[in-house]
Amino acid sequence: MIGAFLWLLLGCSDDPEPKPAVVPTPQGPSVLLISLDTVSAEHLSLYGGPAKVPNLQALASRGTTFEHAISHFPETALSHWSLMTGVLPEVHGNVPATGDSRYTGPTLAERFSNKGYRTAAFIGGETLTNRSTGMSRGFQTYDDQYPWDRRDLKRPGQEVVASANTWMLERYRDNQPFFAFVHLFDAHFPYTPAPPWDTAYATGYAGKLTGEDADLRPYRDGLKTPTQEEIAHIASLYDGELSELDAIIAPLLDQAKDQNVIVVVTSDHGESFRHNYWFNHRGGLWDEITRVPLLMSGPKIPKGERRTGVVGLVDVAPTLLHLTGTPAFEDTHGKDLGNQLNGAETANQTAFSITDPWRNDPQFSARDAHHRLIAPYERGMPKLDEASSFDLKADPQENEPTAPLPERFESIGAVYQAKIQSLSAKWQGPEPEPRTQSSGEIERLKALGYVDEKAGEPPSK
Ligand SMILES: [Zn+2]
Repeated sequence: MIGAFLWLLLGCSDDPEPKPAVVPTPQGPSVLLISLDTVSAEHLSLYGGPAKVPNLQALASRGTTFEHAISHFPETALSHWSLMTGVLPEVHGNVPATGDSRYTGPTLAERFSNKGYRTAAFIGGETLTNRSTGMSRGFQTYDDQYPWDRRDLKRPGQEVVASANTWMLERYRDNQPFFAFVHLFDAHFPYTPAPPWDTAYATGYAGKLTGEDADLRPYRDGLKTPTQEEIAHIASLYDGELSELDAIIAPLLDQAKDQNVIVVVTSDHGESFRHNYWFNHRGGLWDEITRVPLLMSGPKIPKGERRTGVVGLVDVAPTLLHLTGTPAFEDTHGKDLGNQLNGAETANQTAFSITDPWRNDPQFSARDAHHRLIAPYERGMPKLDEASSFDLKADPQENEPTAPLPERFESIGAVYQAKIQSLSAKWQGPEPEPRTQSSGEIERLKALGYVDEKAGEPPSK
């Protein structure tokens, strides 16, 4: 007990934020933030898609669903850094999945830890271990060490959920407010749902293609093009994984249901099954990849409501700080969605996304309620003279670029750059030292498609 008190008083030893002299007695509500890695909103029944997710639908009936929530980066590590900090990827470091972050500002976990909350993260995938991301800042517990499932390169979701639920049950019993972050990797490639989910959306496909890495790697690498029949079959396996994941998280949602806890469910990015970009997410910024689920339920959050305005993952942390009465971030790109939860729709907000600027052909995207713009991205600026834009009302699958650019996007490059520069000057520290990875780590990240051939070498921009 004394140890626990000292821990709360001193906070986490590697937490760079200044501590208040006296840690206040924490007040609830608690926060349960669930990230379902690689879940595309449009595939879920909750958003009109084919994958039935009854547990998420039940959560939606107890809370508010955001129709157009946008991820800012189509990879795990940097997308989660934006989720935890409220700043866009260019500010917190632009490091590949093999590095650390340059970000020196506050994180959500640090804010909650300083408030006196217990903080813990339960990690389901290699791409979000602390060694891969430096993500443990502010978490008193960062549960990311476990034997790997060699076939699926994940920690099975049932184990992640059980570990998180055990920890939270103790907090509920002690009446101790907490911040729990739970990361499920089950929907991520390869697409290998267990029965009955493996045939739940069967298309009648009679060929030999499976959702395993060995079968799909040539398509993911752009070396082969699948037939329409093969695409439908592989998408049916992905959709099976989404329904399976919905069942996996049911115990988490059930245990939280009658507690004083805000539950948020979202994803870091989706997955591509069109645009000649197959079964992957790193290299695209269309809606199928960047539009993610976002649900919130809990005290003071309206029940059964849906909000249609564009929001970004950077908005989640400021909103959670507001809903818990925790000091806000001073400088951040995110907005507190409190007014939107209460029914006020926002003006035509624009959400920005980029792909990894260290890879070949990086891209930039600006997305509002009506249009998406996609442009090549060079040295921190979109090349608007080579941009494509899509009318999302007439062409929601983004198949037919329209011309000319919508007027409001003509100066979007300058708007974006001003946003990045102001917060980079404030929060960007020196380049982190390149890490030396173990051969096992490199092997696993390569298998997931996250490490290029020069893995382990210092990144060059
Ligand atoms: Zn991911």
